[in-house]
Amino acid sequence: MNIDGKETSPRHVVAVIGAAVAGSEVARILAERGALVVVFEQNARPYGKIEDGLPRWHVDQRREEYAKIDERLSHPNIYYVPLTRLGRDVAFDELAEAWGLSGVVLANGAWRDRPFPVDGADQWVGRGLVYQNPFIYWFNHYPEKTYSGPRYEIRPGTIVVGGGLASIDVVKVLQLEAVLKALKRLGKEADLVRLEREGIEPVLKSHGLTWQSLDFKPCKLYYRRTVLDMPLADVPPNADAKKIEAIRRAKTKILDKAQRKYLFEFQELSVPTGLIIEGERMAGIKLSRTQVEQGRVRVVAGSETEHRADLTISSIGSIPEPIPGLAQNGEVYQYVDQKLGLLRDGKTAVFATGNVLTGKGNIKDSLESAVETGTFVAERYLGLEPGGFDASKGERQAVQEVAQAQAGALAVRPPVSAAHVAEILARVRNRQSAVGYSGEYRAWIAKVTPPDLQ
Ligand SMILES: Cc1cc2nc3c(=O)[nH]c(=O)nc-3n(C[C@H](O)[C@H](O)[C@H](O)COP(=O)(O)OP(=O)(O)OC[C@H]3O[C@@H](n4cnc5c(N)ncnc54)[C@H](O)[C@@H]3O)c2cc1C
Repeated sequence: MNIDGKETSPRHVVAVIGAAVAGSEVARILAERGALVVVFEQNARPYGKIEDGLPRWHVDQRREEYAKIDERLSHPNIYYVPLTRLGRDVAFDELAEAWGLSGVVLANGAWRDRPFPVDGADQWVGRGLVYQNPFIYWFNHYPEKTYSGPRYEIRPGTIVVGGGLASIDVVKVLQLEAVLKALKRLGKEADLVRLEREGIEPVLKSHGLTWQSLDFKPCKLYYRRTVLDMPLADVPPNADAKKIEAIRRAKTKILDKAQRKYLFEFQELSVPTGLIIEGERMAGIKLSRTQVEQGRVRVVAGSETEHRADLTISSIGSIPEPIPGLAQNGEVYQYVDQKLGLLRDGKTAVFATGNVLTGKGNIKDSLESAVETGTFVAERYLGLEPGGFDASKGERQAVQEVAQAQAGALAVRPPVSAAHVAEILARVRNRQSAVGYSGEYRAWIAKVTPPDLQ
């Protein structure tokens, strides 16, 4: 079958896993240079952490990022395959070997919460302990009529263990939700976006209320290092001592400002060392004091104290989910060459890109990583000429430098024969039709977008 004429000549065919910021950008780069790109996405919608991570008060930013992803995935050389999870609906070994693809790029992000660092904690998930990823997913989606996932009750005095930007969002969600609920109870107008923008006290004041009048115990964020160590701002690789000090001071200001606006409590130099269990629930945690010596965190012996709370949220970082068949090295995948994101060489090389490779949870880093990987795979691995996409000069230069260092390490691959392209596309169309996807990207998005999605 030759539905769109793509099977009549040899082509490179690449599978990309994950359709969000990084996956859609890699797919665009390769598609614009003539490769056929099959993008597998576990969800119906492709937006990843833009939809399920970035909190929903970022109304405009989320819409802009959705539009960019839609634009990239609309390229005629891209085959979107929704509702298809690598490791469940398609086996990794099958894709990386039996499909006979030119390459595979994993852009599947970091969706596994790093385990709470006390033995046995996971048995209390849903019974006093909650992880950040499902909590933020709930926050972003629960207003939808069709939401059917777990629901979380905001409790006074919730404990949050964390320290990065995402943990600040977690404490914001807790505080903002508590105020919105209180306002609703009092019959007052409650607007999340306004509350986030203006801060809790000015909004309460406009209703003739004070924070004290709500009589709600704020949540408290615990961090194992000092505020100056918090990963709230990036230190550029070439920063001198003065610049590093300025960035460290800026972090204190970021935290102070967040505390003033959202009224949460903060305790540095504290690490969980035990659990408080009562009956069938986790009723809090035990925390010990720490000292930071030459960058290392040391627990102070005998300093453990009990901290009771109905709810503890663990927000200590997200790591890639294990994929059956793909080797792990501790928390991350095992790389042949981590700088290149090369996971496996051979007939079908496998690369990683975006959050899964950088370990950094931000849009800019995922996008830059995707430009590097996409350009490298296109130019050095598939031998595809630049086709008018707009990688900036700096990024192109960085790619060329890496490529130079790797010259000869990866041979340029021959394209897939026309007959085999047809076989691959037949598999793709089978899967698309099994999940009810007609091949019309925009029509699909319209169909699977809840009318009340925020
Ligand atoms: C609470 C929170 C706040 C944030 N705030 C900001 C912010 O203010 N600014 C900022 O720049 N960044 C922020 N981020 C981070 C940012 O949203 C992400 O780092 C970025 O969007 C990641 O893009 P990505 O494409 O690398 O990964 P993801 O968006 O995670 O995309 C991975 C995709 O792969 C899919 N997938 C995963 N596994 C499989 C599989 N096995 N098979 C098929 N598909 C799979 C996923 O469904 C997803 O669509 C925040 C994140 C969180 C959690």
